[in-house]
Amino acid sequence: MAKEKKGVRLDHISKIYKDPKTGKEFYAVKDTSLEIEPGTFVTLLGPSGCGKTTTLRMIAGFESPDEGEIYLGNEAINELTPNKRDTAMVFQSYALLPHYNIFDNVAYGLKLRKMPKDVIKEKVTKILKLVELEGMESRMTNQLSGGQQQRVALARALVIEPSVLLFDEPLSNLDAKLRVQMRTEIRRIQQEVGITAIYVTHDQSEAMAISDKIIIMNKGVVAQMGTPQEIYYHPVDEFVADFIGEANFLRGPMVGKDGKYAVLDVEGNKTRVEYSDKMKEGENYTVVLRPEAATLADEGGLPCTVVLSCFMGSYQNYHVKVGNSLVKLEEKNPKNKKIYNVGDKCHLVFDAESVHVL
Ligand code: ATP
Repeated sequence: MAKEKKGVRLDHISKIYKDPKTGKEFYAVKDTSLEIEPGTFVTLLGPSGCGKTTTLRMIAGFESPDEGEIYLGNEAINELTPNKRDTAMVFQSYALLPHYNIFDNVAYGLKLRKMPKDVIKEKVTKILKLVELEGMESRMTNQLSGGQQQRVALARALVIEPSVLLFDEPLSNLDAKLRVQMRTEIRRIQQEVGITAIYVTHDQSEAMAISDKIIIMNKGVVAQMGTPQEIYYHPVDEFVADFIGEANFLRGPMVGKDGKYAVLDVEGNKTRVEYSDKMKEGENYTVVLRPEAATLADEGGLPCTVVLSCFMGSYQNYHVKVGNSLVKLEEKNPKNKKIYNVGDKCHLVFDAESVHVL
């Protein structure tokens, strides 16, 4: 599999569809530019209808962009049919050949390419080992579990040695436990082969677990692209903050500076947050506070009232009111900590470093 690694670049890509009901045209993907580095695992993530699958299908060649150009490595590929592109797709439905056994399913693409029999045997055997299906060559695909079928689909895509693997929600037909197992498998195989992978999902934990970078899409445009940590800790806007994990929003004007911190007035109380050069006194800011980044105490932070207190085993789940804002908290390992009950008045405490100013 020693092949030159290739990245993918989208240069001002748009796709326009006609709404079948109204007949009106709309942008399913709008003016999208992004770069996927060779050998990385990148996930397209976003709510239903945001344009993830359309983007993936344009890279695969099943749809053509109405505007812009797609590059695979340095080659512009808009004009190439899917089988002429150096990509392979793993589908949600597996799309296996039902009357073929595992070997013949995996060998199919190589036979189409008219490779010699012994080369086909060697390649298929190697790939089946990689996906941990060796010894099962003669099993018919309708005798396989969902997870095994997905491994065959993955083997079939990998065996033709594409530069880029494309995944269209490959795990959504599997049960939750198997999904977690298979995503780890997919990541292991991608890293072992060193292939560029582009993966579509609407499951944020899947995206976090598997990706070098996540592309968050919203209404046909890229809202943010970054590592899971960048997206989680430094979301660019409320949509991204809310879409990845649980987010609380605290709002208020900047009323001053305290050393390297900005001071905000949140619901009539002063609180310190990280300062950036872009911030101006008198202007309103929104601060993202993750549920695990704050704690409750008898004094010291923003005064609040507990409106929900719920033991969840590994954490105590709190909802508190800070003025008119509701804040959700997860106090980890509550065993030896003071538990606050509904109606208690206490303080919401967090580090200035643990919040992110939008
Ligand atoms: P999901 O998670 O539900 O699969 P998605 O983010 O993958 O969503 P797309 O399948 O890319 O979304 O669809 C983007 C938009 O384009 C949606 O509004 C969808 O209804 C519309 N769309 C997709 N394919 C077509 C088509 N062939 N003709 C018309 N509209 C389409």
